[in-house]
Amino acid sequence: MNQIPERLAAVGQRIADAAARADREPGGVQLLAVSKKKPARDVLAAWSAGQRLFGENYVQEALEKIRALSAYPIEWHYIGRLQSNKLAEIAQHFSWVHGLDRLSHAEKLARLRPADAPPINVCIQVNLSNETSKGGIGEAELAELATAVAALSGLKLRGLMTMPDPACDEEQTRETFRRLRQLLAALDQQGLALDTLSMGMSGDLELAIAEGASIVRVGTDIFGPR
Ligand SMILES: *Cc1c(COP(=O)(O)O)cnc(C)c1O
Repeated sequence: MNQIPERLAAVGQRIADAAARADREPGGVQLLAVSKKKPARDVLAAWSAGQRLFGENYVQEALEKIRALSAYPIEWHYIGRLQSNKLAEIAQHFSWVHGLDRLSHAEKLARLRPADAPPINVCIQVNLSNETSKGGIGEAELAELATAVAALSGLKLRGLMTMPDPACDEEQTRETFRRLRQLLAALDQQGLALDTLSMGMSGDLELAIAEGASIVRVGTDIFGPR
């Protein structure tokens, strides 16, 4: 049973409604379809319904899909945890990386990005719930990392990403998104020209759009439970 086109349309409508309520242009919010743990045929079903941006968390699994679907000009985003030994493949095969949280990874990605490819777009992941188990840099270290990353060639710093603690209630989740927007504004003040807030998933994309999300990352509500 393939309900992907219908689910995709429903998510698109939620995005449009949330943008309208926030007095934002619907085109100011991009949908990243998170296809982790789903087969290439599901990606193709979404592609055929007009979806162009896809997010993956696991490098080996992603590479199989990227190869299988190489005839389609899909924009692939890596949204998983970065591991040093996977950075070469990420630098070669993805257009975006959302979970950057250390300079050594940024330097390696920049160095490994093929010279004939455009710079790889990156978002720095900020950990706003102080959970040490989760990825992301702390607020206090953000400005220094962002400045160093922005100076690298081979990659382009586009903005910030966050994942609220799933245990957060609605108000805390919204506060987390608001904080990420404030941090982006502060970096802009320092002269970094950033344009991306990667925040919001299936359960909280409306809150994220209300607080300025420019990319929402949605898996379950498009492809079904994993
Ligand atoms: C899996 C994942 C998502 C999508 O989550 P859903 O709740 O299925 O929409 C978004 N962002 C990241 C980083 C993920 O790992």
